[in-house]
Amino acid sequence: MRFEPKAFKKKKACVIGLGKSGQAAAKLLAKKGFKVFGSDSRPSKELKKTLGRLPASVTWEGGGHSDRVLKCAFAVKSPGLPPHLPVFSKLKAAGLPVFSELEVALAFSKCREIVSITGTNGKTTTTVLAAEIFRKARRRTFACGNIGVPISELAPKAGARDLIVMEASSYQLEDSRHFHPQAAAVLNITADHIDHHGSMARYIEAKAKIFREQTPSDSCVFNANDAIVMKLSRRCAAKRLYFGMRGHGPVNAWSDKGRLFFKLPGAKKELALVPPALPGRHNLENAMAAALLALSRGVKPAAVQAAFKAFKGVEHRIEEAGVHRGLRCVNDSKATNVDSTMVALRSFADDSNGAAPRLLLVLGGLHKGLPYTPLKPLIEKTVKGILTIGSAARKVEEDLSGVVPIFPCGDLQTAVDTAFKIGSKGDVLLLSPACASFDQFKDYEDRGRQFKDLVGRQ
Ligand code: ADP
Repeated sequence: MRFEPKAFKKKKACVIGLGKSGQAAAKLLAKKGFKVFGSDSRPSKELKKTLGRLPASVTWEGGGHSDRVLKCAFAVKSPGLPPHLPVFSKLKAAGLPVFSELEVALAFSKCREIVSITGTNGKTTTTVLAAEIFRKARRRTFACGNIGVPISELAPKAGARDLIVMEASSYQLEDSRHFHPQAAAVLNITADHIDHHGSMARYIEAKAKIFREQTPSDSCVFNANDAIVMKLSRRCAAKRLYFGMRGHGPVNAWSDKGRLFFKLPGAKKELALVPPALPGRHNLENAMAAALLALSRGVKPAAVQAAFKAFKGVEHRIEEAGVHRGLRCVNDSKATNVDSTMVALRSFADDSNGAAPRLLLVLGGLHKGLPYTPLKPLIEKTVKGILTIGSAARKVEEDLSGVVPIFPCGDLQTAVDTAFKIGSKGDVLLLSPACASFDQFKDYEDRGRQFKDLVGRQ
């Protein structure tokens, strides 16, 4: 069933999960004249602290989902909640439709052009860059998704001639039945969030929903270097565009000798552009994906080049955080899984030209369930010391023992102090923790900012 606001006019809506997105959905529905009841599992006292100013017509409960959720005409599911929660079976058993926050938000938008990006890693960077490209092409562009601004807040503001560029996590996609972006991208798929989705197959299926409603007049960008993404792409009915390495099958974007090349179907000539000045091969992939999305929507190459030139990356993603007595400090707090940390280490390995390892790597935080052993080969190449923090420290130490010296630090402050003591000129202190942050910080942004403060304060 599609969410049609008219069909539920003036009826009561129930929003399950009152995080940032849930709150935005509650506000949007209240503004549109619905009576809204919010329900969250966090204790009321804790929840109250996080609730912003909600309209008077919004009532809510904390500490679990009572049967009050059943006294509504439909429910809205916040993107972070697992679909197998008992509350959803309860709603289903009562015959109440449950819609995703994404679909509810878009139902109130006049916008007819949606560009959406998914993948395990690189979504935010690609979304921000793609939005910059469209803006350089003088399109009024609304960027949203996980970057901080919920879709419920932005989508209703976008007009018929505007453009929405949105990052779509597998959480958002998995509950969306009618999501139809005109241009989409699947950047990569690796094992993350399996705990949430239950299995790799379900995680892949969630990602596939980004193109499920697409038709041949739409386009979808795929990573030709990623075997899972390549396999998935065969099921896509839209115009398929690939980025990857030349010589490995037909690709529409590839990198060579410091340039990015593009050749869209039907184009006579190749287009060569200077990529954004960002570290790592992964950012070349993000740039290729963002450019293919824009070019497929008719954006001129000059706008892509101008955006590439101006783009400085996104905060907390291999971000330069300052230099302390010759020790370069880099904040990659967004590396909340082993794959992201591998990406960061690989970009340092690429830049080192075989020189001796110079990284002091801060690892640890809240353990996500996967082993740290895959980091070993890259650590041997690039890292001279590991500084462990957080509740995952023991596991990190066990998995990586014997590779390089490990300094158990406990917390970030001690890790930074230790690095300043043992580091020498030319070394790099890298916070790329391969873990979630919630054991010691509010979120990864809080962790990154605290790191920058600690580094700057010395
Ligand atoms: P997401 O929004 O998907 O979490 P981000 O753009 O915020 O992605 O990047 C998060 C981290 O993921 C980066 O710090 C980097 O380590 C890694 N990363 C970024 N782009 C890619 C990519 N294209 N492929 C693999 N890893 C990437």
